[in-house]
Amino acid sequence: MKLRAFCASVVSSYKEFRIIRILLLLFIPVLLFAGESGWNTRWTSHFLIHQENSRSAKGVGAEMEKIFRGLRKELWSLSSWMDTEKVEVYLYKDRKSYLEGRFKPPEWSGGMVYKSGRRGAQWSLAVYEPFSPKTVAHELTHLYFASFFKRVPGRLPLWLNEGLAVMMVEETAGRVKPSYRGPPVDKAIPAEVFLKLKKIPNSDSGSVQDFYSQAHSVVRFLKKGNSPFKFEKFCRQLRDGEQVERALFSAYGFGSMEKFEKAWKKWAAPPGPGK
Ligand SMILES: [Zn+2]
Repeated sequence: MKLRAFCASVVSSYKEFRIIRILLLLFIPVLLFAGESGWNTRWTSHFLIHQENSRSAKGVGAEMEKIFRGLRKELWSLSSWMDTEKVEVYLYKDRKSYLEGRFKPPEWSGGMVYKSGRRGAQWSLAVYEPFSPKTVAHELTHLYFASFFKRVPGRLPLWLNEGLAVMMVEETAGRVKPSYRGPPVDKAIPAEVFLKLKKIPNSDSGSVQDFYSQAHSVVRFLKKGNSPFKFEKFCRQLRDGEQVERALFSAYGFGSMEKFEKAWKKWAAPPGPGK
């Protein structure tokens, strides 16, 4: 997983990661208007896209809908509103314009998700050209998944949020075989610690990569290695305030953290043909 190719435009250090984590969870309320003045605006089935450069990226609407179809397969049960409510997308012509735009994003960010109180445009995404399907898939996963935890954002675990986002980048790219078990995890953090992390363990990029690999693998195991109904139940339990150990037991039947860890490692271990 080339984290730096898409998320590290979002996260380039541990400190930065902490900041985006806070931003994603707080959903800084930003008053959105109908669009940056003079921008080209177009509707698709699930998005209202404001595009600064009307001469480029003509296929953005189709690209967004393609990503949406990939996300819907995995996320609909947790955010069924995605079928009926459009997400407002602000596509800046370049990074400089994005940084100078009305959202005032942090300099290190590669895309931002907002929750607005305005009717009809509750959820918004700000990104810039060149259009990156990976960044959009990653950020849109955060957006849809976070809506499930919208009243209690602090109950959405870091590993679950990021693991699902990186998994969905691969899923929406359409190259994943059913036998794929996620990226190799060479230096797994013990589950007891990993599932309760509030931040990336340390600042060197190798550890950031390891964290994302483990998060991806664990989420893939919970979501694709088990019935999807179990994953939905697990998320519901976390949202309703259950501790992760109890939620793992209640949804999956793992009697302890050790039993969960053993099952995950066993599932992840077979050297499958890869994706
Ligand atoms: Zn992320």
